[in-house]
Amino acid sequence: MRSLGRILAHVANLWPWYLGIVICSLASAGTALAVPFVLRSVTDLVVAAVNTHAVDLGAVVRLAAVLLAFDLANTVTSNIGGYLGDNMAMRLRAGLSKRYFDKLLGLPQRYFDDELSGTIIGRLSRSITEITQFMQSFSNNFFPMLLTVGAVLVITAHYSVWISLLLLAIFPLYVFFTALTSRRWQRFERRKNAHVDQASGRFAEVISQMRVVKSFVQERREYSGFSRHYDRTVALTRPQSRWWHSMDVVRRGVLNVVFFVIYLIIFLGTARSVYSLGTMVMLVQMVGMARQPATMMSFFVDQSQRAVAGSRDYFEVLAQPSEHDWRHEDAPAPALIDADAPMISFRDISFGYGQGPDVVEHISFDVARGERLALVSESGGGKTTLVSLLMGLYRPRQGQILVSGHDTSTLGVTQLRAEVGVVFQEPLLFSGTVSENIAYADPDVADQQIRDAAKRANADAFIRALPHGYASVVGERGLKLSGGQKQRIAVARAMIKDAPILVLDEATSALDSRAEQAVQNGLEQLMEGRTSIIIAHRLSTIATVDRIVTMRGGRVDEIGSPAELAASGGIYAQLLALQASGRRRDRRRL
Ligand code: ADP
Ligand code: MG
Repeated sequence: MRSLGRILAHVANLWPWYLGIVICSLASAGTALAVPFVLRSVTDLVVAAVNTHAVDLGAVVRLAAVLLAFDLANTVTSNIGGYLGDNMAMRLRAGLSKRYFDKLLGLPQRYFDDELSGTIIGRLSRSITEITQFMQSFSNNFFPMLLTVGAVLVITAHYSVWISLLLLAIFPLYVFFTALTSRRWQRFERRKNAHVDQASGRFAEVISQMRVVKSFVQERREYSGFSRHYDRTVALTRPQSRWWHSMDVVRRGVLNVVFFVIYLIIFLGTARSVYSLGTMVMLVQMVGMARQPATMMSFFVDQSQRAVAGSRDYFEVLAQPSEHDWRHEDAPAPALIDADAPMISFRDISFGYGQGPDVVEHISFDVARGERLALVSESGGGKTTLVSLLMGLYRPRQGQILVSGHDTSTLGVTQLRAEVGVVFQEPLLFSGTVSENIAYADPDVADQQIRDAAKRANADAFIRALPHGYASVVGERGLKLSGGQKQRIAVARAMIKDAPILVLDEATSALDSRAEQAVQNGLEQLMEGRTSIIIAHRLSTIATVDRIVTMRGGRVDEIGSPAELAASGGIYAQLLALQASGRRRDRRRL
């Protein structure tokens, strides 16, 4: 319930809508309440006419017209309330979704390492749907009903305090009983949601990696894994629903008995001439108006429980620590110029993921301004980890990273990342056009600049050969392009970012030698005038760097020029020998 309160506080700016809804609720409840009174007058008039044989037809018609007027007024006001409710709900949904996305954008990479994207998306849509539905039915249905019940209590008290007291007793009893039984319901709901979340996570993965599923012919397994989760939710629904509805039988059974007593009071009272026939009609109607909310209570309670569960999930994400408040940081122009300091300094850096052991330990080296430095280690040796630390995707456990003499831990990730351009091994593109992808760092950049970047990245020729040239769409993650094409677009994208530091993380490792050559030419252009850290699998691509840092067991092993390291007999020399013999073998095979 506290989380629901937080939702309300969260959407406090919607109060004018709520106020409008409250006013409409009052009006529609008022007009609905007037109907039994008119009915009483009509009934008494008709009964008197029957008894005295003197019929005033005009008066009967007039009263019936009043009935129509109240009904019409009720129709109009409840529809205005519905209109306001719909709009309020959509605003609420939009507000909650935006807040969630805003939060996600500020969360550290760690969060996304641990969560499946489908799970994140599924949870968002479920929690927001449930919160919104509850708030909408709360304002549109529950609130008017509450008002009606209040009025009915007051009016019936005028005729019989007993009726009023009995009605009054129902609601707190109902709420108390529900609160008593809801904990168990919630436990089931949480377990069901966990299954749905896992299924959605896998679902999204399967969709985005359909090629793998197809080529390994694993449709059957994926289907049964998915089904298993949903079968569990079905299985859990059985005891959950049984529990809920058995409790509802008790709850509503009590309600039925209470209404039986109330009706008995009315009928006996009329039979003993305490009430006129008209009053009886009115009271039966009035009590009927309170009866509907009473039975609807379980529906509202059910909805409110879902909303509580939903808002708990929602606020769990909102409570995650953000790495920065991106809203209040303008991406600064790269400007960390301190000509005396080395461009990058790793000082005694140690880091491991999560609770795991250190992946890199006591790493110390500098990269001079304009230098090209290669990182070499075995696969899994911590190269990507080290450049991720440089980009501030993770925080080191120990040590400092300096950029242009500035401690990056005090720099703010936005400013730090503005300094670093990067080309990954898997160059992920967005689903828009080629132009949009190249201009990702700056959507306002001129077409001419996009073209220049593409030319320098050795991409212009193939882009122009695409069916729609620069306006061709690349598909999700760029799947309509070949690896080498994607990579050259990624190079052009890094050119537009124009950051002083460049990280190439196995940028050509996934390519065949011809595509590699095409990309390599682009990379040479990109590295021009920048400080570069190059991670490459094929040693031929790093033979021209200024210095090489080799890592072994997460520590720096050797640092030196390619020639020095080739002569020293360390990892680099060993890898060189290995690759040379591999090439000889390949040549023999050809
Ligand atoms: P390299 O780039 O040199 O091949 P990485 O830096 O990618 O190596 O990985 C170093 C080690 O860290 C590996 O053992 C890998 O399993 C682990 N690792 C990499 N990324 C993550 C991550 N996001 N979460 C947990 N462990 C990771
Ligand atoms: Mg790597």
